[in-house]
Amino acid sequence: MSIETSIAAMVEGETGQPYPYRRVELVEPDWTRFPGWKDATPTEWESAQWQRSHCVKNLKQLRELLGDLVDERFYADLERDQVERATMSMLVPPQMMNTMAPHATPAGPGSLTDAFYADPVRHYMIPVFSDRRTDWTSHPYSSRDSLHEHDMWAAEGLTHRYPTKVLAELLPTCPQYCGHCTRMDLVGNSTPSVDKLKFIAKPVDRYAEMLGYLRLHPEVRDVVVSGGDVANMPWARLEEFLTRVLEVENIRDIRLATKALMGLPQHWLQDDVRAGMERVCTIARARGVSIAVHTHVNHANSVTPLVADAARAMFEAGVRDVRNQGVLLNGVNADPHALLDLCFRLLDGAQIMPYYFYMCDMIPAAEHWRVSVADAQRLQHHLMGYLPGFATPRIVCDVPFVGKRWVHQLASYDEVRGISYWTKNYRTSIEAADPDAMTRTYEYYDPIHTLPAEGQAWWAREGRVAPVS
Ligand code: SF4
Repeated sequence: MSIETSIAAMVEGETGQPYPYRRVELVEPDWTRFPGWKDATPTEWESAQWQRSHCVKNLKQLRELLGDLVDERFYADLERDQVERATMSMLVPPQMMNTMAPHATPAGPGSLTDAFYADPVRHYMIPVFSDRRTDWTSHPYSSRDSLHEHDMWAAEGLTHRYPTKVLAELLPTCPQYCGHCTRMDLVGNSTPSVDKLKFIAKPVDRYAEMLGYLRLHPEVRDVVVSGGDVANMPWARLEEFLTRVLEVENIRDIRLATKALMGLPQHWLQDDVRAGMERVCTIARARGVSIAVHTHVNHANSVTPLVADAARAMFEAGVRDVRNQGVLLNGVNADPHALLDLCFRLLDGAQIMPYYFYMCDMIPAAEHWRVSVADAQRLQHHLMGYLPGFATPRIVCDVPFVGKRWVHQLASYDEVRGISYWTKNYRTSIEAADPDAMTRTYEYYDPIHTLPAEGQAWWAREGRVAPVS
């Protein structure tokens, strides 16, 4: 369904509004519907350790879980994707697995096949070969480190792109791996198509170098502590790092990046993690520093009571806010209804602030997920006015060598070839001596299959010879 048709389909809603708001109670789907977890108890389900040890990491484990409820063709489709296309290895915690096909009732062999193929969470967590495009699987200008974060490392894993803020990638792993991961260059295990980059220095030395950089750069006031996902870092080591960051006088904002607040909320509900978070927040409060948790939820079905409990635990520990940074993905959430459902589910059910939706970055094999800038602008339009202003998410394009721009901020746009041109108002850390950094325009490319025939013909002629990195 296109964005326009999905809006048109909503006009008949009972409120007379294109989007008929209705409060929805959160539910934890029944995990015992999957044969592999038919005996799992609520105590096991709520244990972070049980969740980690029952993650689905490969085809064999997926078969053990679902059995013949899903047809062989689905498993074959998945296997082919893993061999030929996947940029991320499979890792799905039970909590996330359980939000796939949540309303389908198993009724014998093959009965969940269609629901799995159609499921939005499955679409990005367990991509299959037939999901991907075969005309332009990758954009000619796609690349492994599409945001050039590595080029902007001030210390190994510390990206200094914006004037006052840095991104600290503490570790290259997560409790869950998303098929569209923008850090596919570094995060997760290697796949047949992607040999992952490895950090060279020891973690302890990398962290010391990061802290040294923060101390020497008073212009940096804001640290995004990320990865990977900080939920994979042993708590004591994360607390030690955060405590050291809090000693740096210039740091005023710390944001902890963890998709696991949704993917493995059981982690953030553990007593030692809650107590540790409270200690960190107490120091932060005494020093006038804000600590926020940034999570990554892409679909309303992912917001369950346990996710709300984890967010509440963070508020009780003293974090200033829990915010959501989703990714705009075709087949998952790229229509106004799905985005508004997600935002209201986050806000009403879990007090998580809808903050950003990023356009999916130009990584390899992602064309089936990406939307055009024009569609992103239309989606932003359709989101306006329903949510409180402070909770209306901004849809942003992360433009290579520029950074986040609101999708309406482009300088010019060739909609036939799908090339948007963007400018910026600061220098990244690698442009100190570049006189043209702020007058140059920077390009972002729409997926070719979304272009009019003339544009597609142009790329068919010219695009095959474009540099591919
Ligand atoms: S949680 Fe974030 S860093 Fe980890 S795989 Fe997903 S998108 Fe990548």
